[in-house]
Amino acid sequence: MYLRWYDTVLKDIDQYILCHQPERGGALLGPRGQAVVSHFVPDPQAATTTVSYVPSAALGVAVRQLETQEAVEYKGIIHSHPSSLAQPSGPDLVEFGEQLRVNPHLGWFIAPIAVHGPGNPQAAHEIIRDQGRIAVYAARRPHPHEPGPVGLRRLRSGIIPSVFLVRALSQTLCGTVVGPRDTQRSAEHAQAWHIALRDGRQVLVLIGPEVPDHAGPQVVLLESSHEHRHLDLPWPSTVSDRVRLRMWLVAAAHAINQHPTRRSTLAVRQPPIPAPARRVLKAYQAASIPATTQRSPGWPYRTARRK
Ligand SMILES: [Zn+2]
Repeated sequence: MYLRWYDTVLKDIDQYILCHQPERGGALLGPRGQAVVSHFVPDPQAATTTVSYVPSAALGVAVRQLETQEAVEYKGIIHSHPSSLAQPSGPDLVEFGEQLRVNPHLGWFIAPIAVHGPGNPQAAHEIIRDQGRIAVYAARRPHPHEPGPVGLRRLRSGIIPSVFLVRALSQTLCGTVVGPRDTQRSAEHAQAWHIALRDGRQVLVLIGPEVPDHAGPQVVLLESSHEHRHLDLPWPSTVSDRVRLRMWLVAAAHAINQHPTRRSTLAVRQPPIPAPARRVLKAYQAASIPATTQRSPGWPYRTARRK
């Protein structure tokens, strides 16, 4: 199994877990039936000792609330350990077994361990962060007829560079990123972002789990409340990440900055807007969008091993 993480989740984990001493933790959620983590819910009331971590009842309430608001399901729990123990402890395995027992929808219980200190770039199951690393494990329920301890395996992970791509595009266009950022329900598991341009137009960016390995983000230019253009931007798989990013940004800037009266001579191809983008577009046109402050981007393409 190959687990993909939105970089928004990793940033939340940095802030809530890796910037503090162990043990801290919270729940991981993602689109139903997909090996994708799109949401993190912190658990400040968890019961922790130096060797065990038990999530609180309040976390269960928060998770169920999120599951009713978004098209996501509970996937597991991440918690931190002292840096000498980058793997689940014995009491952790008991807790994972309990989580699998009370969550029959789970085939696997995602149970990463966050630790401080430098990681091993060769370890495929580790996600390297500035403040430490996340060793990604999953627990499998014991066979019903052969009760015993849960099975444990390491999971290879990849990053969906959502906030990174949106900030890079916003900087290129001299725009401002505005929220809301999540429309999981309407976008069929794509994160939706808005960039406000200085001329009053807006850019809608949809980033699904297929990014960056299999496709680029979908970009829609909202010219006015009635007029929009879906931009067909390059995302070649045969070049390096940096070259691909540069090609995507340059093409987006060209397509968005061209003067309206010259569009026909530049012959930009306008494919139809895919259904998920159409639904998000409708939701955005109906909603008011509060401005948020924009922070500087970082380079998030850092997992233990790239494809
Ligand atoms: Zn633990």
